[in-house]
Parts: sequence; structure tokens; C-alpha cells
Amino acid sequence: MSPVARRPRVVAGNWKMHKTGAEGAALAHELVALLGARPPCAVIVCPPFPALEAVRAALQGSAIGLGAQNLHAEPRGAFTGEVSGPMLAAAGCRYVIVGHSERRHGMGEDDALVARKLRAARRDGLTPIVCAGETLSERDQGLTADVLVRQIRAAYEGLSPAEAQETLIAYEPVWAIGTGRVATPEQARDAHRIIRATLERVVGPGGGAAACVLYGGSVNAENAPRLFAEPEIDGALVGGASLEAASFFRIVAAAAAVV
Ligand code: PEP
Repeated sequence: MSPVARRPRVVAGNWKMHKTGAEGAALAHELVALLGARPPCAVIVCPPFPALEAVRAALQGSAIGLGAQNLHAEPRGAFTGEVSGPMLAAAGCRYVIVGHSERRHGMGEDDALVARKLRAARRDGLTPIVCAGETLSERDQGLTADVLVRQIRAAYEGLSPAEAQETLIAYEPVWAIGTGRVATPEQARDAHRIIRATLERVVGPGGGAAACVLYGGSVNAENAPRLFAEPEIDGALVGGASLEAASFFRIVAAAAAVV
């Protein structure tokens, strides 16, 4: 079996600032009904903090994983309004998104903070979903590779190949997030190759080939099959289309169809 064939398929839903506890539980119940206790590939949902408990309860007995959208780098302390990794783990989370572009660009999170959050997640027993991606102006200036190398290097420096493999990476071009403008499979492929080559250099041999790299940015039920047909794409981080059970289910089914 080739290394590519051994990588898991993962579809994660980022609900962003949508869904109350009751709404999130209803969506989770619908997903469990559609996907069954054993989804055909790894499935993760990342509700907002106040909905975590209700969604956790609704997912009880299913293999759908629970994730959060952010964490603080410190485990506890005087950080008003923040949520720590141990709190998320105690709330039933197994995953946490770090470095989402809406936090990098909207909340001023820099590469150093993303690196700290990645380590905090690992320290607290959570699998980080590490986002990286270029803005439209960076792409237009031919800087896509520079940005990806910088972001991945900053986040993964010092990790071993095995430690890197315990994370998920999402290539999320900023120009594709929430815009309806999806990257072509070729654009995603090229970016994923850059990410893998960077990991290979930063964490060591094998770190790139083994890394599970998702694509994120306007993935929907219609474009998912085309994206998943590209072997470099191991799954998806889905925003808008994860807010309805039917569309998210079709994306999961598309990912599983090419396992
Ligand atoms: C995201 O929030 O990570 C995302 C990819 O959003 P959307 O699918 O809506 O573009």
C-alpha cells in the first residue's frame, strides 16, 4: 500500500459563530441519524463553545468527533473571556482548530501564537487542526509558497514526524473561505505538496508523506467529489456547508467514496 493510501480521510465542520446549544444538538442528532454510529470516514464537528455540551450529549454513542474552534495557549489563569485546552478536553473535545484565518486576520493571531496553541492542544490531549493559507493579494503577488512555508515552519518547528502525524492540517486559502470561490483541485494539490515538502524539511523524513492535509474554502456537496478525486486532498474543513445535515452528509459521503 502506498503512503498516500494509508492516510485517513477526514471531514470536519467548522460551525463558526452559528448554532445555539439547542440548534447544535438538533444538527448533531440529524448527522447521527444520517451517518449512523460508524461514519464511513472520520467526521468532526466544531460548534461554538456554549454549544459544546449539548452537541457532546447529542453525539453520545456515535463516532463523530467533537472539536472546538479555538483555545488559549495557557492551561488556566487570568484571561477573561478565554477557554483553555483542559476545559475543552473536559467538555468532551478531542480536536481544536488553531490558526484559522478568521483568527489570524480578524483577531491578530500571528505565527508564534499559532505555534503556542498547537503545542497547548497537544499538551492538553487535543488533536490540533492547524490552518494555513494565503490571502488573495499574497497569491496575486506569487507569494503562496512563501506564506505556506512560513506558517507551517513556524507551527511545526521542533516537532518530530510522529508528533506532526498526530495533527491535522487544513490548507485554507483565505480568498476561498466563505466566498463561494473554491480552489481548483490543481491549486489545492500544489499547495498541499508545498505543505508536505515543508513538513518533510521541518519535522524530518516521512513527516510530509504521512501528514493528513485537508482542503478548506467553499467546499460544498457539488464540488466535493472533484476535490476528493485529487489524491493530495485527504478531506475537508467545511464552514457554511457544514451547517445543514444534508449538505454535510453529502460531503462526507463524497470523501468516503474515494477511500
Ligand atoms: C472555514 O470556515 O474553515 C471554511 C472553510 O468556511 P467555508 O467552507 O464557508 O468557506
